[in-house]
Amino acid sequence: MAELTMTIDGKSVQGSKKRDVINPATGKSFTHVPDCTREELDSAMSAAARAFKTWSKDIALRRQVLDDCAAALQQGSEGLVPLLTQEQGKPLAKATQEIMGAVMWLQYTAKLEIPVEVVQDDAMARVEIRRRPLGVVAAITPWNFPLMLAIWKIAPALLAGNTVVIKPSPYTPVTTLALGEILRNVVPPGVVNVVSGGDDLGAWMTSHPTPRKVSFTGSVATGKKVMASAAPDLKRLTLELGGNDPAIVLPDADPKSVAQQVFWGAFENCGQICSAIKRVYVHESIYNPFITELSSLAKSLKVGNGMEDGVQIGPLNNKPQLERVSELVEDARKHGARIVTGGERLGSEGYFYAPTVVGEISDGVRLVDEEQFGPALPVVAYKDVDDAVARANATHFGLSGSVWSSNPDRAAEVAGELECGSAWVNQHLAVTPYLPFGGAKWSGIGVENGRWGLLGFTEIQVLNVARA
Ligand code: NAD
Repeated sequence: MAELTMTIDGKSVQGSKKRDVINPATGKSFTHVPDCTREELDSAMSAAARAFKTWSKDIALRRQVLDDCAAALQQGSEGLVPLLTQEQGKPLAKATQEIMGAVMWLQYTAKLEIPVEVVQDDAMARVEIRRRPLGVVAAITPWNFPLMLAIWKIAPALLAGNTVVIKPSPYTPVTTLALGEILRNVVPPGVVNVVSGGDDLGAWMTSHPTPRKVSFTGSVATGKKVMASAAPDLKRLTLELGGNDPAIVLPDADPKSVAQQVFWGAFENCGQICSAIKRVYVHESIYNPFITELSSLAKSLKVGNGMEDGVQIGPLNNKPQLERVSELVEDARKHGARIVTGGERLGSEGYFYAPTVVGEISDGVRLVDEEQFGPALPVVAYKDVDDAVARANATHFGLSGSVWSSNPDRAAEVAGELECGSAWVNQHLAVTPYLPFGGAKWSGIGVENGRWGLLGFTEIQVLNVARA
């Protein structure tokens, strides 16, 4: 494939250094991308700062440009799909969904209003609460939904009048670089700059004097470093971090149908979703049929190279992640848990891991307490619902959670007790462009999406005009 380039000031930049990108289905390099230097980053930041002066002035133009971005992305989607599968591992159908989802997110965001609230309008004064853009936004993304999460940042940042320098994960830089090449044709120079490199490039961005805001999605550990690095300059922050989402299945739930939904809430994208179900608490009265259903679903999954027909889940995205999931499952085994199905690497090529269901396990074991971010689901039995809620909340994480029951009102009461940003009833992963998405506790600061996410890319200004 032709090597992709960075986008800086609307131009293609090859970069003076290169780095490999590994296809997780083969474990081998499939292309090279630029490894951005400090000088190249400086030029991206300067271009974004220059572009901000005019870009921030005209919201009608910005709206039109976002619509044009959606159309251009849609047009370029066919070429992007196989790139996303090769760099991330997900099946082609899921890669298509991610890209078309990003198109929809752009279209939705283009229509959002930036409110002006009039709080006083009388003989004394007219007082308006306005929203001003911040300036340059440094956007940093992880490797599980590289294109979608890039758009979650680019679209609202741009509508609000900011300009962007974005850096994808070193594991999945390809589709974001390709997005830059597509957007070059529709966005004025300097408004969206795409740079690629390693973790050090992220650190250079968050400590760079130019950005006024950092919008970061990734792990809790890195989020803490980002916050520390942004502090000296009081940069604004949105942090979308990890989760250890609980699902609580109440005794009146139908084990067969609920297990199916819980299964996909956990195994979608090979378990590599921040808000995937990472632990299930099932009432002891339905524990056995529930776990039997989960394991038969896990056994029936077609795991393979996402480029092949009929594959339902691909490999884990990278070797450290494969090693982490293997380590957590081994640790559970050592602690006496029952590996009901899976529990092993598949093949020796690529980073495949068998969909794994783990029973007879409880809190205090790493697979339950930590974020596994992979296809290994611990299923914990409980007797008392209040106790299940207490155990679900006994964590630093607080991204989302779900409660399952044939009585949605009762389930809603229980869900309201969960200490998390999104509390779902009889569903999980209900993420849409019009609802805010963010975490409580260590799972994040601020939200993305909808008008709440948009406002995170603005700062309040009180415009107070005296009349008397
Ligand atoms: P990560 O924290 O290792 O990396 C995320 C990004 O940060 C990458 O682009 C990386 O290069 C960059 N980075 C690394 N060190 C940095 C530093 N010191 N300063 C600035 N940037 C730095 O996370 P990951 O392994 O890519 O992604 C998995 C994690 O992301 C999981 O914990 C997952 O739950 C979380 N996640 C959260 C959400 C959400 O919306 N809450 C969405 C997706 C993923």
